[in-house]
Amino acid sequence: MPKYIFVTGGVVSALGKGIASASIGYLLKSRGLSVTLQKCDPYLNVDPGTMSPFQHGEVFVTEDGAETDLDLGHYERFIDEELSQDNNITTGQIYETIIRKERRGDFLGGTVQVIPHVTNEIKERFEKLEAGNGVDVIIAEIGGTVGDIESLPFLEAIRQMRLDHGPENVLFVHLTLVPYIKTAGELKTKPTQHSVRALRDIGIQPDILICRTERELSDEIKRKIALFCNVGTDAVIDARDVASIYEVPLRFHQDGLDDIVLTKLGIEDGKPDLSVLEEMVERVKSPAREVDIAICGKYVDLRDAYKSIIEAFIHAGAENDASVNLRWVDVEEIEESGDAEKHLGGCHGILVPGGFGERGIEGKIRAAGYARTEGVPYFGICLGMHVAVIEFARSVCGLEGAHSTEFAPKSAAPVIDLLPEQREIVDMGGTMRLGAYECKLIEGTRAHEAYGVASARERHRHRYEYNNDYRKALESKGLVSSGLYLDKDLVEIVELPNHPWFVAGQFHPEFLSRPGRAHPLFREFVRAALEHAEGGA
Ligand code: GLN
Repeated sequence: MPKYIFVTGGVVSALGKGIASASIGYLLKSRGLSVTLQKCDPYLNVDPGTMSPFQHGEVFVTEDGAETDLDLGHYERFIDEELSQDNNITTGQIYETIIRKERRGDFLGGTVQVIPHVTNEIKERFEKLEAGNGVDVIIAEIGGTVGDIESLPFLEAIRQMRLDHGPENVLFVHLTLVPYIKTAGELKTKPTQHSVRALRDIGIQPDILICRTERELSDEIKRKIALFCNVGTDAVIDARDVASIYEVPLRFHQDGLDDIVLTKLGIEDGKPDLSVLEEMVERVKSPAREVDIAICGKYVDLRDAYKSIIEAFIHAGAENDASVNLRWVDVEEIEESGDAEKHLGGCHGILVPGGFGERGIEGKIRAAGYARTEGVPYFGICLGMHVAVIEFARSVCGLEGAHSTEFAPKSAAPVIDLLPEQREIVDMGGTMRLGAYECKLIEGTRAHEAYGVASARERHRHRYEYNNDYRKALESKGLVSSGLYLDKDLVEIVELPNHPWFVAGQFHPEFLSRPGRAHPLFREFVRAALEHAEGGA
C-alpha cells in the first residue's frame, strides 16, 4: 500500500507548488524511498497539447508520448524517474471518461453526479497510479488555488482519500504565502490563516504548512501560524526565496520537512543523500566563466514557454563551470529589421527552439543563416532544425523556394513536409509524432561525439519532418545526416562538419536533461559557445 501526500496551494498562484512537490519527492527519494508524482489540472482541456504556449507555457512530453503540464518536467528533473500519461490528470480527462461510460450505459440508469462519480473517477486515478509497482509514496499536486471553483472536486476527492486510506497513510501539505509588508516592517500571517480556514471549510485540515516568504520566519511567527492553523510548530516550514530552484529541497531539509513527513506517515527513515543537488547548487553559485546564448523564438516574453530549455542550460552551464546568460531575441524583430547582426551580434551561441505557426519564421531562418555564415555555434530544436534545413536548401543548394509545407503548402521545394500518415489526421489533440523514438548516431559526427554511444532515445512532438526526397541534394552540398530513426528512415539530426558547431535535431533534448547529468547536446553546445567566446569572437 503506498502512502499519499497531497499538495494544495493557497493565497495566490505561482508560489512554486510544482517545485515544492518535486522537492518533497527528491527528499524522500534521497532517503531511500521509491516515489512518484502526479499533477491534477482542473481545466477542461483533455491535455495541454492543444493550448497556446501563451496560455499554458511549455508542454512537457513524457517517454510514452503524453503531452503534459510543465510541472512534470520539474518532477522528472528532481526525482529522476520517467513519468507517464497517468501522472497528469485533467478535469477534461475525467469528464471524457465519465461521459463515455454514461453513453455506454455503464451507470445503469443512475444519475451521474460530481459526487460520487467525478470524485470516484479522480480517486481511481490516484489509486491506479503505480498500482502493483510497489512505489512507497505518491505525491499528488492539486493545481489551482484553494477557493477556485474548478479544483473543488479534486479537493473533495483527497478529503475522501484520507477517510478511505486512513490518516496514517494520507498527508495534506498546504503551500501558502507569508507576505512581508514593507510599511509595517512585518511578516503577515493572516492570508495563511484565511487559506487554511478555506481548506477546513471543505473538510481538509492540513498537516504541514510550507510558507513562501521573502524573510526568515522567526520562531514567534511559526508559533503564531501553528496556533491559528492548528498544526505543530515543527510542521510550519520556512520556504524562503532562494537563488536557484535546486536549493529548495536543501532549504526544506534544513527546516526539517522530510523528517516531519516521515514521522507523520510512520515511515522508518534512512540517512538522506543530497549530494546531487548540493554539488549542482555549488557549481551554479560559483561559475568560473560566462557565455551569452541567444534564444530566438516567438514566445520570448513568456519564459515558462521555454522552461525545460532554461533548466537544460543551467545543467549544461554547471557541467562546463560556466554561467549561461540567455539573451531572449524576438524573431519577429529580426524579420522586421532584416538585420540579424543587430540582434545576434556578440552572442556566443544561437539556439532556435521548437515552435508552431508562420509568424516570425523568416526571422528564425535568418538566425540560422547568420549562425552558419558567421561561424557562431548553432543548436536547432525541432522547428530550429526545420529552419536550418530550409536555410541551407535556399542558400547553399540554390533551392530558392525551399520551405516547410507547414508554412508554404505549395512550396516548389518542400524540404520539410508531412509524412503520409499525418495527412489524413483531422483531430488536433494527441496526434503529432509524440514520445520517445530511437535515434541511431552516425560515427564520426559531432552528434556521435557528444553522446558517446551508438544510439539514443529522444522525445518528439511535431508533425513535420525532413523530406527524404531532398536528402541527397542537401547531403551532397555538405549537410550531414548524423542521427537517423532507422525503422522509418527519418533524419533526426543534421549538422555541418565545416563549422565550429552546428547541430540541429528533430526531437526535444531539453526534456531529458537532469541536474548533474546535462543533456549531451546542450553540454557540447555550451562548450562550443565557450570556445567561441574565448576565441575572442
Ligand atoms: N511546428 C513544427 C511541426 O509541427 C515543429 C514543432 C516543434 O518545434 N515542436 O513539425
